[in-house]
Formats: sequence, structure tokens, C-alpha cells
Amino acid sequence: MDHLENDVAALRALIEESPTPIALYVGPEMRIHIANKAMIYGAWGKDTSVLGQTLKAALPELEGQPFHQLLDDVYRSGIAYEAKQDPATLIIDGRPVERYYNFTYKPLLTTDGQVWGILNTATNVTELVLARKQIVDVEAQLAFSLKAAGIGTWDLDVTNKSITWDDRTKELYGFNRADTASYDQVLRYMHPQDRAVVDKAVRNALDISSGGVYDVRFRTIGADDNKLRWLHCKGKAYFNEKGEPYRFSGIAMDIGAQISADERLRSAEQLTQLALENIDAGSYFIHLPSKDITYTPLFTRVLTGKTELGLERDEFIKHIHPDDVIVRRKAYELAVSSGSLDFEARYVWKDASIHWVRVLGKYTYDDQNDPVYLSGIVQDITAEAEAKQEQRKLLWLIENSTDMISLMDKSGDLTYLNEAGRRMLDIKVLHEDTRKRAAYLMEAELDRVRQVVDPALLTDDRWSGELMFRNTNTGEAIPCFVTTLLLRDTSTGQPLGSASVVRDMRPELAAQKALIDNEELFRAITTASPAALWMTDAEGSITYVNDIWLNWTGRSFDEHLGQGWVEAVVADDRALAGERFVNDFTQRVFHESQFRIQHTDGTRRWIVCTGHPQYHVDGGFKGYIGACVDISEQMHLQQQKDEFIGVASHELKTPVTSVKAYAQVLQTMFEREVDDKKALMLSKMNSQIDRLSSLINDLLDVTKIQSGRLQFHDRHFDLNDLVLEVCEDLQRTAHKHQLITDLHSTAPVHADADRIRQVLTNLITNAIKYSPSAHSVTISSSMTDTEAIISVQDHGIGISADKQPKVFDQFYRVSGSNQHTFPGLGLGLYITAEIIKGEGGRIWLSSVPGEGSIFYFALPLSSGQSIVK
Ligand code: ADP
Repeated sequence: MDHLENDVAALRALIEESPTPIALYVGPEMRIHIANKAMIYGAWGKDTSVLGQTLKAALPELEGQPFHQLLDDVYRSGIAYEAKQDPATLIIDGRPVERYYNFTYKPLLTTDGQVWGILNTATNVTELVLARKQIVDVEAQLAFSLKAAGIGTWDLDVTNKSITWDDRTKELYGFNRADTASYDQVLRYMHPQDRAVVDKAVRNALDISSGGVYDVRFRTIGADDNKLRWLHCKGKAYFNEKGEPYRFSGIAMDIGAQISADERLRSAEQLTQLALENIDAGSYFIHLPSKDITYTPLFTRVLTGKTELGLERDEFIKHIHPDDVIVRRKAYELAVSSGSLDFEARYVWKDASIHWVRVLGKYTYDDQNDPVYLSGIVQDITAEAEAKQEQRKLLWLIENSTDMISLMDKSGDLTYLNEAGRRMLDIKVLHEDTRKRAAYLMEAELDRVRQVVDPALLTDDRWSGELMFRNTNTGEAIPCFVTTLLLRDTSTGQPLGSASVVRDMRPELAAQKALIDNEELFRAITTASPAALWMTDAEGSITYVNDIWLNWTGRSFDEHLGQGWVEAVVADDRALAGERFVNDFTQRVFHESQFRIQHTDGTRRWIVCTGHPQYHVDGGFKGYIGACVDISEQMHLQQQKDEFIGVASHELKTPVTSVKAYAQVLQTMFEREVDDKKALMLSKMNSQIDRLSSLINDLLDVTKIQSGRLQFHDRHFDLNDLVLEVCEDLQRTAHKHQLITDLHSTAPVHADADRIRQVLTNLITNAIKYSPSAHSVTISSSMTDTEAIISVQDHGIGISADKQPKVFDQFYRVSGSNQHTFPGLGLGLYITAEIIKGEGGRIWLSSVPGEGSIFYFALPLSSGQSIVK
């Protein structure tokens, strides 16, 4: 124990002198072995009577506080205990006092490691603790008042670039998800236009030379609520000895209310926002390094058709129409160099509908000139694109118009000229010289345009008329027809300029001239024509007669128009000529008529008038075009010929008759002398004389018919009897052909029997003549209620259908080239037909070439009355 005693004595002295409260407890019961004054009086507030007592007995107020337990633990475990700023409640001067101590319980060990006591040192830190507490309270109070004032606090961890913010600050950023956020993230919740400012202010504050002050106003766009807020942030940066910032904190407040309504309105942002909303445009902001995208609700609606927030940038890219992916890519490539993005592309909405979207954007660059942000707007331009398409079509029309189309400003300078206009005016590019009126209008027109056209435009808003344009290169004058419209500002009504449609009249004028030339040519031809020419409209009114007609008739052009032309026809022929024309015209058939006109030379002229119906290309009837030929001369010659034939045949008839008489006398004489040879020759001579006289008779008949002197001595007779008589007669000379009759009883006819005999003779001799290989000719008779009909049928060469109507014409011979095979004059059928017509009957035929012909004639049955002709 000596050693212990010595030690204790040394320790005691040390402890007694120490200003630090020290006590030594011995044994598990914690008997106070030593306690210095600082402990007894200072820390405990007791007196020396505590010495030798157990701690529990000396300081009963510690009951219920952790100290006894702590001491027990140290005594049992041998491990020291240290506490900082621990509160302890003690009874001092009879009153409980709360104090704070930094204290240690240190175990004291024997040499064999047993705990025999505990050294307790303690420092009263009550004042310090209380001061700290006061600070905390003040801070809490401050936080409370900040909160009450709506002010948020924030703290930027400079090293990690992360921000810790209170609820209010989070609220002000419209971001409620986490207590900390990265600095970049926070920047994104700011208004795109303010980010650069804020970023700069932060950098500035973190530079020690700035003094670390941070004071900035900016806008945030709520990440969660999309609300725009005006914030005022103040802060301060703290720097270490190396001048590096280690802390940067401050406050944030909503100053929305401070920004007056006027200011807000004036705020470009508001206007932009308004404008954007007005045009249905959404805005976006992309932080390029992180690809983070911030956007307004309209942005998603424009691109996807749905308002959906929190989407990644790639989500939107997926909506691009596959055909427009390249357009977008090209636009981005271009944007790299130009700094701005501008393209139109189709986006496929979530409902699969396709929308045209215009995307505009601008890059923001950092100090290294690297793009950091891309921000801009997107706008649904589907309607606009459609309108544009319409506009494109319109433009196409304008560009491809054959007329010049132009726009002019107020002074008449061209501002737009279509392709046709550029060609006409010979303008490649509109520049200062070519756009001027003086360049594209002839000089003589300039005054008129100023004095007439411009004022007219201002009063009527339009002008049309002719103007001489000018080839800007060659100076050639171009006659044009112009329609100009004044263009007015739709809101103010002020004239802005004008638009013109200009027709180059040169082709038209050339065509017109060609037409005039044509007309001249036409007139020259018609004048040169020996024939009179005429033309009618679709109603049959004369619209044109040429000079020849005018010269013949001596009447004026106008007098012939309409139906006036008939007045030129002599009164006797007028009705027939008119009737013929109307008849053919209504049937639209070839017109032919003959009439006489009174010629200016006092003579009457025979005119043959022909005309053909005319049709338009579309098939519509146009009218007639025809000619009139003066045939008076031919008529005269014809007449002379007829007269000559008449005289000649008449003169021939007398000698032929006497030759016939002599021949007959001679024949009788030879027969009597039984000189057969001579008698035969004379009989042949006789029949040739018969043929000759029959030819002369035919010629005489023709002259009689033409002069209207053919006479009929009609009486009632039986046709069948006549047929039999004629056949008997003809059979005598016809050796090859048998004349077969097939007669049926007919009522008597009233006609000239000699002429009808002539008819029958003609038809039967023709039937024999034109059927050289046949052996029979059949003559039949029949009767209807009104007519007796005779037919003569042969099995000869026949007549083709086209020739059939002509066989009754004078001098017409089908077998003209076979003159030697079938001799004749072509008068027989003419005379025959004239006789039948003269008797009021009809004549016709049916024939098949190579098979034979049947000639028919019909005579009216006699009504019992004698008709004298
Ligand atoms: P022609 O004197 O030539 O016989 P016609 O007036 O009797 O004169 O007949 C006119 C033309 O009609 C003849 O040239 C002939 O070509 C034709 N013709 C008349 N009758 C017949 C007939 N039976 N068969 C064939 N052709 C006929």
C-alpha cells in the first residue's frame, strides 16, 4: 500500500492544484477518494464533506441521470468513457441547475490489470453550449421567419456541384422530388433565356475576386407544374485560405408580385409566350451534353398529339415521319454551321394522324464555342402546309401561264414577273434597271400610264386596256392587253401596289392579219372566178355573193342578202327557183336548178345554179356554198343545134321518102320478073331505108319534144291488141329471138296508139339488140286499179344500177365504147320516156348486169273521158 500511498499523495497534490475539476472514485461503490476544489465547489457545488462518501450519497441528484451507469460500465469493462457537452442536472445552492460538461471517466488499473478506481475529469462547457443553443435557436427562428416570408434557402456544395435546398426553394423551382439536385439540373428549371445570366452570376460569385456576393433575378419554369415564377436569389460564397470556395449558400424568394402587371406584359417572355400560344407553338430547351430536354406542354402536343411531360428527347424523334428523317438530319447538319435550326417535317401522332410541324431552334455556345443549349419552338403548320400546297399550285399556274403575270409596287416597279413575262420582256433577272416602267413600257406610254391608268386604278381598283410594252433588250414594241388590279393593305386599305395579267397580242394580231390576208385571197379568187358564188347561213339566208353576181344583176350586195337574191330571177322562173332551193335546202342535198335572170346588159341569161351543204368540223350544219354559171351561150348553141337537127332531118325526110317509094316500086318489078336476086337486094335496101327514116323520125321527134311540138292524138284502145300487133310485125324481121307474150286482160287505155306503138317497138328492139346471145324476149301485160302495165323482159347484157336512171336521157348510151357492137344514137329511150310522160304515165326499169333487163311502162286506165292534148 506504500506504493499506492505515495502515488496517491503525489496525485492528490497534483489534483489539488489543477484548475480542471478532477475526482477519483475508488472501488465499485465509487467512494470519493479525492476531489479537488474545482470539482467539489465548481462542478458539483458542494463542500469537502463529500470526501469519503460514495458518489451516490454525495450527489443524490444524479439519480435518474446516466452517470452511475456509465461509471459502472467503465469499472467493469476497464474501457474509458469520454463525453462532450453532456448535460447534467445538479443541486447547487439548493436549486437544480443544468450544466454541460465535457468529461472523461478513465479506469485506473493495478499492475495485474484490475480496475481499482476511476479518474473523473470534467470541463464545464455550459456557457459554450448555451451560446451554441442560442445560435441554433436564432437560426430556427430565422428559418421560421424566412419561411413565413416565403423565402427559401439553399446551399451549393461547390465540390460536388450539388445543391441542397429547403422545401420553399424547391417549391420556387417547381421541383418537389428531392432535397438535393445537381447544379445542371437546377439550371434546367430556369427559364432558357435566364440560364446564361444565372450561370454567369454563380461563376462570378465563386471567384474570390468578386467578394463572393451573389444577387440575381431570374425566372424558373416549374419542372412539375410548368409555372413561370420570378425569383430573386441572394447568396454568398466562402473561401478557404487557398482562395477556393468551400461553401456557397443563400436565399431564394418569389418576386413575382413585385414585378408589376405592366412589367410582366412588357416582358418579352410574356409576349413570346403569348405569341407562341397564339400560334399553337410549343417551346423546348435541350441541354446538349446531357441530352436533357425541357419543354412546354404544347411542345408534346404538337409533336405527339398528347400532352405528356417528362419524356426523353429520343421519344420525340421517334415521331418523325420516316420520309422526313433526312430533312431533319440535313437541317441539323446545316444548323451546326449557321447556329440556327429551321425545318418542316411531318410528325406521326400517337393516333397515327400525320401533322406538318415547323421546328425552329438556336444554339447557345460556351466559352469554347461548343454548343451547350439548343432552344426553340415547334409549331403545327398542317393547315399552313396545306394552304402552301394550294399556293404552290397557284404559283405553278402563274409560272406556267402563257400570259405575263406581274406584281408592281406603288411606283410601278416590277417586284415579281412570271416566266411568260420574263420571256416576253426579255428579262433574265429583275434588277434596278429592268424593273422600272421606263424599261418595260414604250416611252410613249409612260405619260398615259401616269395620267390615265394610275388614276383609274386608284378610283376603280382596276384598269384594263391596251398598252405597248417594250422588250427590255431590243426595245421592240409589244402590243398587249392588260388587266391591272390595285392591291390594298387589308387592314388599312392603303394601296400597296398592283397586279397585272398581260396578254401579248402579237400572235393574235398576226393571226388576224393572216385572216385578213386570207380574206383578201378569197375575195381575189371569187372575183377572178367566172362563176357567181354564193353562201348561205344555216337558215338558208344568203350571207355572201361575189362581185360576178353583183355585176350580172346590177344590184347591191345588201339587196341579195337573206332571200333578196330571188328578186334577180325573172318573174316567170322565180317561184320555181325559190321552191327548188327551199326543197333541196331542207333536205340538205345537192342543189341544182336552172333559171333566168335579168342581166344589166338588158338580156335575159340562163343560169345553172348548184350548191353543196357545208358542215362544221363538229358535224353541225353551216349552210350552203354554191355557184351560178351563165349557160345562156350553151343554151343558145343547143338551140341552134336542135334547130339544125330539126331542119336537117326535115330536109332529109323528103328525099328518103321518095327513095323508099322508088325502092318499093323496083322491088315489086323485080318480084314480078322473078329476079330473086335483085328482089332480095332491094328488100335489104328497103329495110336500110326504113332504118334511115326511123333515125330521121327520132331526130325529128327530139326536135319536136324540145320545142314542145310533140303531139298526141289520143283515143281509147286495147293495149294487149297493140302488143300482139307490134310483136307480129317485129317477129317478121327478128329471126334469132322469139317474142313471147304473156298478156292479161286490161281495161282500155286512152292514148296516142301510134306513139305507144313507137314505145313498144323501141323497148322490144332494144331488148333484142342488147341480148345478142339470148333467144327470147317476153312481153307481159297486167293491170292495177288505176293503171295498165306493160313489161319487156330480155336476158341480155343488163345495165348496172348507177347507169339505170340515165338511160332515159337524151343521147345517153351506156355502151358508148361499144359503138360498133350496139349501134345507136341514144335517142330511143329518151323519146320513149317523153311519150309516156306526155301520156301521163310512168316508165322504169329493173336490170341485173349479165342477166338481163325488164323495162316497164304504165299508162293510166281511161276514165271514159277523152283528154285532148
Ligand atoms: P340506143 O339507140 O343506143 O339503143 P336508147 O335510147 O334506145 O339508145 O338506149 C339508150 C341506152 O340504153 C343504150 O345505148 C343501151 O346502152 C341502153 N339500153 C337500152 N335498152 C337496153 C336493154 N334492153 N338492155 C341493155 N341496155 C339497154
